[in-house]
Amino acid sequence: MNEQFETRCIHGDAADRLLDENRSISYPIYQTASFSHIKPGHNASGFDYTRESNPTRTRLEQVVASLEGAAACVAFSSGMAAISAVFELFAPGDHIICSEDLYGGVTRLHTFISTKNGLRVDYLDTTDLSVVEAAVRPETRAIYLETPSNPMMNVTDLRKISALAKAHGLALIVDNTFLSPYFQNPLALGADVVVHSGSKFLSGHNDTISGFLCTASKELGDRLRLISKTTGGVLAPFDSWLVMRGIKTLAIRMERQQQNSLQVAGWLKAHPRIREVYYVGLPEHPGHAVNAGQARGFGSMISFRTDTAETALRVLERIKLITFAESLGGTESLLTYPMVQTHPDVPQAMREHLGITDTLLRLSVGLEHPDDIIADLRQALEE
Ligand SMILES: *Cc1c(COP(=O)(O)O)cnc(C)c1O
Repeated sequence: MNEQFETRCIHGDAADRLLDENRSISYPIYQTASFSHIKPGHNASGFDYTRESNPTRTRLEQVVASLEGAAACVAFSSGMAAISAVFELFAPGDHIICSEDLYGGVTRLHTFISTKNGLRVDYLDTTDLSVVEAAVRPETRAIYLETPSNPMMNVTDLRKISALAKAHGLALIVDNTFLSPYFQNPLALGADVVVHSGSKFLSGHNDTISGFLCTASKELGDRLRLISKTTGGVLAPFDSWLVMRGIKTLAIRMERQQQNSLQVAGWLKAHPRIREVYYVGLPEHPGHAVNAGQARGFGSMISFRTDTAETALRVLERIKLITFAESLGGTESLLTYPMVQTHPDVPQAMREHLGITDTLLRLSVGLEHPDDIIADLRQALEE
């Protein structure tokens, strides 16, 4: 891991770089279900069956492990498949503390599946350590959080919460989707598992779905790989290749999308119809300083509040360049209505407590020219 991040986006770690037999520059798509055996118990390539492992996926896992500084990485068919697998680590009766502002699909997973299987989950303000400390019980096993969180952009101090987790023997699981490994490496700050929806910044082109679990220890990586090959939500060879190709430009995309976001957030802040802008890059954001102490950037996710619900709806209707759609992190700017699109399964009282209301919009700033993004918002906001 001596090379710089940009280099590892393209090559992974030089030391364990997987090359195919033709030494292809673009690693091939091994579109095969199975691999031939020479004799019983002896497979020449080390690969048996694509649900267990596949060279294209292995190569991608090596690259992502390198970017997160992980001992192991397992690729999944979606971020939710990865998150489902991580919750399979726990047993009935176990208690998990989650950040209260969370990707809506995770709350849905808990409501419909994890609690049925006996897990107990509390959603708390993980930005306040005393709240977390007070909630730890003998059966608590893990803390699961996002920072910055979706969609309110709350920032949790990773060093402090990882010290708390260690003091109580809890695993710390961090969803790093919003900043990507380019800006933040939670494992280096004490996390045990990093979660990614690779559908977002890692692949970066709004063209595929994928997920990753990266672990600090090889042992935990082995446990998660056993879960992945047993439950089978693995990433297909072609999708592995697409994500690998996307990652080659991760560093320059993250930089430019962040630059664009700073301009868009500054413009939004000054607009008379905008009441609040939640962007970690703004110095007045409550999590700005903590984020600056643990990450190398602020990313390109901006939530903002309009003066009225009608304004929010009008913006969604009138945008032309920015697309009204779920998802984030890609080359195209996307605008989302979290209350309706990503968080409908979060109970209304919780949504209101968090601020996910009918005036809240979430913008993923893409790679279009910032003047064009701003011009589109301007025409959509004006009478
Ligand atoms: C999208 C997303 C997920 C879920 O990932 P999928 O790839 O859509 O299954 C999880 N966490 C965060 C923060 C996300 O943005």
